[in-house]
Order: sequence, then C-alpha cells, then structure tokens
Amino acid sequence: MTSEFRELRLDGVGRRFSGKDALADLDLTIRAGEFIALLGPSGCGKSTALNCLAGLLPLTSGSIWQDEKRIDVLPPEKRGFGMVFQNYALFPHMSVRRNVAFGLQMRKLSKAEVARRTEEAIRLVQLEEHAAKLPGQLSGGQQQRVAIARAVVLEPSLVLMDEPLSNLDAKLRLEMRTEIRRLHQSLGLTTVYVTHDQEEALSLADRLVVLRAGRVQQVGTPEELHATPANWHVADFMGFRNMIEMTVARVSGDEVVLEGEGLRLVGTAMGSISTGATVVAAVRPEDVRVVEGEGDNRIPATVDVVEYQGRELAVEARTGTGSGRALHLRTDQRLAPEDRVSLAVEPQRLLVYPKEAGDPAPTELAEVTG
Ligand code: ATP
Repeated sequence: MTSEFRELRLDGVGRRFSGKDALADLDLTIRAGEFIALLGPSGCGKSTALNCLAGLLPLTSGSIWQDEKRIDVLPPEKRGFGMVFQNYALFPHMSVRRNVAFGLQMRKLSKAEVARRTEEAIRLVQLEEHAAKLPGQLSGGQQQRVAIARAVVLEPSLVLMDEPLSNLDAKLRLEMRTEIRRLHQSLGLTTVYVTHDQEEALSLADRLVVLRAGRVQQVGTPEELHATPANWHVADFMGFRNMIEMTVARVSGDEVVLEGEGLRLVGTAMGSISTGATVVAAVRPEDVRVVEGEGDNRIPATVDVVEYQGRELAVEARTGTGSGRALHLRTDQRLAPEDRVSLAVEPQRLLVYPKEAGDPAPTELAEVTG
C-alpha cells in the first residue's frame, strides 16, 4: 500500500477552548510511511492534535497541508484518514466480517472487490477463525484487531490512533504493540499514534513528539529522546525518576559542580547553566549504583522501601540517615529496609537542566505524571 502524499505538514496549528490554549503553535512535518507518536501527560493536548488532524475539531490557528494541498478546510470524510480509538466502536450486531466490510460497502465498490479486500484485512490481523463471530464473542485484543482491520481496509493515506491499547490488560497490550508494529512494517502506513505511555511510544514510533501544556517540548527519534531529553519535563517523562533541585557551584565546559541538600555532585550541563543558578539534576533509577566506601559523586542513603521485581529490586532510599529526599534505584543486591548504603552516579548520567521561571518544583510535576 502506498501513501498518496509525500509529506503531511502541520503549520502553527493551534486550538483554543474558552480562550485557553489546548494546543499551540504545533509545527510538524510527517513523512509518508512514518510512525509518529504524540506523547505527554493527561491534558497536554494529544487528543486535540489528533482530532485537528482528523477534521473532528476546527483549528483556531494555523493550517494543515498534504504536499501542496491545504486540507484543514476539508471535512473529515474528504481527508481519507482511518481512525482507531480506545473504545473499539464496533457494530455489536454485525459479524467481524461485516464490521470490516462496512466502510467498503459505503463506497459502493463491487461485491467481489469488497469480499477480496475484507478477507485480506481479516487475514492481516489474523482473525480468519473469528470472521463469523459477533464482537461480543471476542476478547478485547481481538476486538481491537477488528477495529484496526476496519481502518486499514479502506487503505487510508494516514491512520490516526488514540490510545488504542489502553483498555487492554498488560499482556495483551504487549501482544498488540507487536501486532501494530508488524502491520506498520508490512503495510508502510503513515501513522499518528497518541499515548501517555512512554514505553509504548518508544517501542512503536519512528519519531516522538512530546507535548506539555499544549506545546511541543521535543521532537526526535526514540534514541534521541531517551539519551538527551531537551528539558527536565521531557526527562521526567522519559523515566528520569530522580529529580533533585540544586545550586550550581562551578561550571567548566559541560561539567557542572552542584551543591544542595547536603550533597556535592558533578553532572553534565544540558543547556545554558551558570554559577549560582538553581537547576534540576536528573538521573534514572538504573543509573544510581550501590557502591562500597568513599569516592566522588557519592550519596549516603538509607533504604526505605524494597520491591521485588524478578532479577532486580526496585529500591526507594532516603538520603542521609533516612530523613532526606527520596531516591529511586534498581539493584541486584539483596538490600533490606534500614540498610545504610553508599550510592554513586556517573557524571555523564546526571543531567543538569536549567530551571525556568514559572516552572513547578520537580517533585510537584512527578506527582502529576506519576
Ligand atoms: P488525555 O490523555 O487525558 O486524553 P490529552 O493530552 O489528550 O489528555 P486533550 O484531550 O487534548 O488532552 O485536552 C487538552 C486540554 O484541552 C485539556 O486541558 C482539556 O481540558 C481541554 N479540552 C479538550 N477538549 C475540550 C473541549 N471540548 N472543551 C473545553 N476544553 C477542552
């Protein structure tokens, strides 16, 4: 299946509700065949962006272009996009086969053409054995496959998916994730996928767009976002669970010496950092190591909570003798609550971000995004 366009361009797209920006200044060029994930916490504007693309919401500002053709002025049915939602929205009284065929029949195609394309789509999502069943006789994962087949059977130039896996249990989510990736690889469908699950976005997408409060924070490949988040909000979303507000004591090139909370740590500058400034130091739990004895970049701490997670333990420790700030780490050492430990972080793994005026304290945001 080939796309009917080379690129889809969102140009300063914005949408306001009651005078408040739900989405502002979204610039994004989606290349044909790309899988783009829109990622961000609840209320950041992901669904608004998707609905603007679909034509379900008129724009308040900006424009959307398919190559040289302006499409934001077209009604949804004239855009030729397919949509898959989290509630599968299947017709309950129709068999799987009839659900998939429905859109083709509406297009008044020949019976033979409808039958051929329907069977092909059912085969793609591996539902051949279930084609005669009603949606109510299927599992959640199978129903979602029907919804996907129903969208792809129309050979849309763009598929829009809004949290399609969020109603499934953990195991099915993983299976469907692979399924969606497999479908994307075999059909090469240009896809825009909305999720608040960073793991899902990282594993599925060619590029991610991270939104916060209606504004793009960063656009990049999974590798770029994982290794070098553009600011501490993105870092927070990319699994940097430890965020420590500190003061800059010294800067030399990329190397930053930080003080605060009784600690002295060396980290890596991720923006313009100056001496005396308040910054946010971010580190992933898997980059906090339990070590022996004294040394550089050490944090004395006391183990608070230990969670068994198979090969590793997820540990929450508190700095100092147990009254300091909470730090999250992962370790294969058999730690127990009350253990006194020495923690270490490589300077390259401690990313130091400027804290901008009006930013909430990192802990407040961590609570919001979980
Ligand atoms: P979620 O993951 O919770 O669905 P989201 O990132 O998709 O969140 P949106 O649904 O795009 O967020 O909402 C963005 C902002 O716009 C929110 O503050 C929301 O309350 C507001 N909003 C969305 N739709 C409407 C509407 N129809 N009327 C008024 N405000 C709206």
